[in-house]
Amino acid sequence: MEEVVEGTTTVKVAVRVRPLSDKEIREGGTECVEVTENSVTLVQENQQPHVFAFDHVFGVDSTQPQVFDMLGMPLLDKAFEGYNATVFAYGQTGSGKTHTMMADRKSDDRGLIPRISDNLFQRVGSLSSETHKFLICCSFLEIYNEIVYDLLVPRGKNAPKTGLEIREGKGIGVYVKDLQEIVVDSSDKVLKLIDQGFEHRATAATQMNATSSRSHCLFIIKMHQKDEQNAGNNNFSKMNLVDLAGSERASRTGAQGDLLKEGANINKSLSALGNVINALSSMASGSKKVFIPYRNSKLTRVLQESLGGNALTTMMAALSPSKTNADESLSTLNYAKRAKTI
Ligand code: ADP
Ligand code: MG
Repeated sequence: MEEVVEGTTTVKVAVRVRPLSDKEIREGGTECVEVTENSVTLVQENQQPHVFAFDHVFGVDSTQPQVFDMLGMPLLDKAFEGYNATVFAYGQTGSGKTHTMMADRKSDDRGLIPRISDNLFQRVGSLSSETHKFLICCSFLEIYNEIVYDLLVPRGKNAPKTGLEIREGKGIGVYVKDLQEIVVDSSDKVLKLIDQGFEHRATAATQMNATSSRSHCLFIIKMHQKDEQNAGNNNFSKMNLVDLAGSERASRTGAQGDLLKEGANINKSLSALGNVINALSSMASGSKKVFIPYRNSKLTRVLQESLGGNALTTMMAALSPSKTNADESLSTLNYAKRAKTI
């Protein structure tokens, strides 16, 4: 019964179009995507233009601070109110997911996750007092081939093939058993954990002969705040920052064997996620009790506690502007549109 959810979940859908890459320009790619603040138009030869409306659209000139203001700030607001919030970056490999979520985490061009971490600790610094306390901890995990791995521990060659278990406990809900939760007290510490996680991910990917674009990557920030002066500020919240596996079809890359299985698992989990978000979206539009199909993938199961209820869910779809990618872009836009369809 836990899969029937009540509440007023907010589902937001954003799209970001990256600039044409040098490679696309060399291959004669021209832009086939036009944007306004709230719409994307995909123009293909001999076809009617496809027009899509979204909550936010970021064009090729959009900056990392703009994306943070529109998507990161509301997420932090929600967390400080004691609710859970999640951002998913969706799109084909090379469309700009990691750039938007992370980019070079030490440069001025840094993406959402480092900016959220910076702003979080600024806010905590200004709110903290003898009577108003915060406890913040981070987890970092990856889901590859429907197996959950902790990115904050090295994955030795003898790591169990089954990965971490997802459990459900009375009163504590759904959780990942044995997942590391590291207490952090500064943004620097958060960035160190991210570095560590990426290192473990890269080593494991080499061992498994895989590339990072084939796994879902979740950075989780948990916050507990306790304010003796104001009972309204006693709460727990979670921010989930998700860089999804590339959404391109397995068939397009001519995959066989293990690669085909990988592709099938990615398709399965992305469509399970789409179904969950679609159900949450219909709940936001007024249906009081809705069945949410969390159990169809590890990804939706891990995030079950954070999607639904009074949470904020943001789908950030990343697009290449190039005519050479128009088919994938159309499929990304249709996926994003479905997140909003009631
Ligand atoms: P993905 O994670 O979806 O596979 P990346 O984020 O790695 O894609 O982006 C692919 C390439 O495009 C990278 O070299 C990245 O720096 C560049 N890129 C992506 N988005 C932007 C953007 N908005 N502005 C400039 N360069 C971008
Ligand atoms: Mg990436």
